[in-house]
Formats: sequence, structure tokens, C-alpha cells
Amino acid sequence: MSWRSSIQTVVQTLYPTSCLLCGTTVEGTSGLCGKCWLHSPFIAGLTCNSCGTPLPGQSLEDETCDDCLTTPRPWSAARACLVYEQNARRLIWDLKYSDRAEIATAAGGWLHAALRPILPENPIIMPIPLHWTRLLKRKYNQSALLSKALSDVGKFEHQPELLKRIKRTPSLVGLDYEERQSCLKGAMRMSPTKAKIAKGRNIVLVDDVMTTGATLAAATEACLTQDVGSVSAVFLARTSKND
Ligand SMILES: [Zn+2]
Ligand SMILES: [Zn+2]
Repeated sequence: MSWRSSIQTVVQTLYPTSCLLCGTTVEGTSGLCGKCWLHSPFIAGLTCNSCGTPLPGQSLEDETCDDCLTTPRPWSAARACLVYEQNARRLIWDLKYSDRAEIATAAGGWLHAALRPILPENPIIMPIPLHWTRLLKRKYNQSALLSKALSDVGKFEHQPELLKRIKRTPSLVGLDYEERQSCLKGAMRMSPTKAKIAKGRNIVLVDDVMTTGATLAAATEACLTQDVGSVSAVFLARTSKND
């Protein structure tokens, strides 16, 4: 076996060989069997250009949802793979709390497909960071697993250490946009020793879920202090209006 084919084998074995949701044997890199794929709320069709939420109808223009019209976003554009409901909730819960890193490996391809319409030139991919105390408790940052998987699929530059969470924030669950925004004030910044890497470059931030967008706004603002070219984002899931 040549070194090329042995590397190929290693890469392939990292992809889940059984469906992430039902355990049926699956082939290829999608991670889900046909039935579970159809029953998962993947986003297709028209979406808000700013946050990736699905919109009704069709349009040839960039459209913006009501939320993004009332809360202008500091980032350029964003997309999501799934609506945060049903199977998407289950996958994200398992990725975060059940040590199921293979979910991120399969999601690399989903993120790549979702990002494609807004993919900037020569991007740097970065996860939304966790504070080190939370990282110690959780052992890994699920967003960094997702950003690594996306970078592997797209062969993009991955910089998981560039953006840092320097302030510990309480759980944001149940808080509205303004409350989250005040908790997140000054919570993130670019690493002073590495920030020059990002100068003039197009940043793509990766997170598991976008809820109000306050975390993404704080991360974007931290990037924009460093004279980057642009900031866009991609998430595994976007909460629906009723969340
Ligand atoms: Zn299945
Ligand atoms: Zn929107």
C-alpha cells in the first residue's frame, strides 16, 4: 500500500460508518442514512443573507429577515446547515455533551455546502472560543471540532487559537439580545501575538448554534478591531423564530 492510499484509509475511517441518528450502516461521508437525512431539518432554498434563517418564497436578491433588519449585524453574511429543532437538537446535544466527535467530522461537509454561496476568497476559519475554565470542564470546544472539520473538507487555513475568550460569562440561556450583549462586552479578543495573521484576511467564524446572534456579534467585533478584510459565519444550526 502506497503512502497516499494509506492516508486515504486513515481519513475515511474517521468518518462515521453508521448513521449518526439511527445506527444503520452508511457509506460515503454524509453521516446520515437516507431516511434520517430526509427527517432532519436541513435548510434549503431562500435564506436571510445575514443569519441563514429560512425565508419563504424565492428571490434573486440578497434578502434580510426581520430580526436582522431590527438588529443590524456587524458581520457580512452567514449561513446555517439546519434549523435548530428535532434531529438537529439531538445531534448538537450529542456533539456537546456525549463526546461524539464523529458528528463534527460528518458536519464538516454540511458546513462546507452551507458556506459555499457566501465563501470569501482565501478564508481563515476560526471557532467561537470557549473560556479556558469552561474548556477544562467540557474537555473540548465543539465549535473547534466543527471548524477543524470544515477546514479539512475545504482545505482552508484553520486558526483555532487566534480568537480568545478572555472573560468568563455566565450561561446565556433565557437572556434576550441586549442582556447577552452586556454579558459579552469585552469577552473576546484576538491573540495579541498572532493577530497580524488576520490582517486584511477574510474570516469565517464557526459555531454550533446561532440564537440571538449576540455571541457572534461580540466575536465579529473582536475580529474587526484587527483590520481584517471581512467576517462571515457558518453554524450547524439556527434557532427558529419561536425559540
Ligand atoms: Zn439513520
Ligand atoms: Zn436574519
